[in-house]
Amino acid sequence: MRRLIQSLPASRGLALGRARVREPHGLDIAEERVGKGRIDAELARLHVAIDRARDELGALRDRLHGTVAREMGEFLDLHAMLLDDPELKVALDHMIRTERFSAPYALKLQRDRLVAVFEDMDDPYLRSRREDIDHVIGRVHAALQRRDSDAVQGLAGDVLVADSVAPSELAQLAERGIVAIVTAQGSPLSHSAILARSLHLPLVVGAHDALAQVNDGDAMMVDGRSGEVIVEPHAADLRQFRQRKRESQREQERLATLKKKATRTRDGVDIRLFANAESREDVAQAHDLGANGIGLYRTEFLFLQRDQLPDEEEQFRVYRDVVLGMRGRPVTIRSLDLGADKADNTGLVMASEPNPALGVRGVRLSLRHRTLLRTQLRAVLRASGYGPIRLLVPMISSRDEIRAVRAEFVDCARDLRTEGYEIADHLELGAMIEVPAAALALPRMIRDMEFVSIGTNDLVQYLLAVDRNNDALGELYSPLHPAVLRLLHDVIKLGHRHGKRVLVCGEMAADPEMTRLLLALGLTDFSLHPGSMLEVRQIIRDSDHHKLRRHASALLRAPDRAAIERAVSRL
Ligand code: PEP
Ligand code: MG
Repeated sequence: MRRLIQSLPASRGLALGRARVREPHGLDIAEERVGKGRIDAELARLHVAIDRARDELGALRDRLHGTVAREMGEFLDLHAMLLDDPELKVALDHMIRTERFSAPYALKLQRDRLVAVFEDMDDPYLRSRREDIDHVIGRVHAALQRRDSDAVQGLAGDVLVADSVAPSELAQLAERGIVAIVTAQGSPLSHSAILARSLHLPLVVGAHDALAQVNDGDAMMVDGRSGEVIVEPHAADLRQFRQRKRESQREQERLATLKKKATRTRDGVDIRLFANAESREDVAQAHDLGANGIGLYRTEFLFLQRDQLPDEEEQFRVYRDVVLGMRGRPVTIRSLDLGADKADNTGLVMASEPNPALGVRGVRLSLRHRTLLRTQLRAVLRASGYGPIRLLVPMISSRDEIRAVRAEFVDCARDLRTEGYEIADHLELGAMIEVPAAALALPRMIRDMEFVSIGTNDLVQYLLAVDRNNDALGELYSPLHPAVLRLLHDVIKLGHRHGKRVLVCGEMAADPEMTRLLLALGLTDFSLHPGSMLEVRQIIRDSDHHKLRRHASALLRAPDRAAIERAVSRL
């Protein structure tokens, strides 16, 4: 029977496919048995996977030094201990031999048993360690899958329906041929949503009924632009789907004519559009669309979905390729912004924090792990020999932090020169303004940076005390708040007064409905995902800059969201 599911659009695109439902907890593995003759092969497959998981843990330990190694040691030891526990192997072997369960299914059963034991414990600390069980079993499961090419292909053409997806899973899901994702939780501002847009993978979130309404194998129609999800669509829906596909194709063709056009307002003011990028494809697309440069290269995605940290050489090659890909246009590399929802599966096990969004995140993490920071800075500096590159530091809240990063930067540059590397004479350092304290204290810090980039995704979250990942807060998360407009306006004005470039690189800059508002507030430098670049360029080309600027004071006087919305609609 046809069902309509409400959700929030998070990454555009139209998709049609079979549903693949993933249980909210535990591993998504159906009961599966192997033939009698395959028992020994199944046991061998499991043992190889366990050995592989152990080797990965060992390799991870070997690659870490200093504080990181000390902090991670505790976790790595615990995971190795769980993996080496003879009881684990005995229990799994027993299930495979006597019940003829497949190795993945035996793993799932054992995981569920162990989690139940941990959850029953009185001690809250021990109870919380059930996460380690998930990590260890998940590691063995991943090792099993890497050997199982059938499983890797098993998702092609499917629509994943899940409680949530971690950013670290997304690239793999896209590789495995998933055509769209529907999640019960999540928000369009989450890092998963940002990455899905970069991967051109349609995603809708906050589909609370999805898990109850969808069964494995159901036909699904997903519209990542409107958030519409139809289960078991009728012929009329399919007709509409085809129609929308054609329209979107036509729209793309129309926008494509803007690729080589200037980003200039009707009254002749040049506006710069930089690209947010996470991958090689984004960089190629940015160049193709005539971006002025890369305004935000999110390096954390280099660290996701892997067991080892990328070393200097690997990072250098990635940054150098971005610089070469932009052929002389400036590239802004953001130093690692791990923490909060971006910490899992990174080869960097971090202590769980009571409130990760307010925890060791961004520059705070980099300054506590100096080897990690220096490795990244050296890679960025080495890439500077190939073209213009800047460094952007996330989560700055005080002048000391930017100064500490600069000191390391200068130190690394000196070392590299001594080692004979060709690096740029001067490198610009910028701060992300996303913590309200940094925005308010900017007059005292602005001299310590060469440029400023406003991260509205976090700025809105911290300024309004509204979690960007919590869809239950819905409408409360909005940049259309008098406090947000005031800060944006003041930061842009202050930066310009000091002759510094000010970019907005949060999702607000990519939202065509916000373009005129940002122009009215004085913004001249946008950084946005390439997917929205042409639409935003079109709006800029249709705007009159001087006229918009005259609305700034009325916008800043508007007392609440409704009044701001009215004022924006008149722009
Ligand atoms: C932001 O906070 O606006 C931003 C661009 O950074 P991220 O979304 O990666 O936190
Ligand atoms: Mg941010």
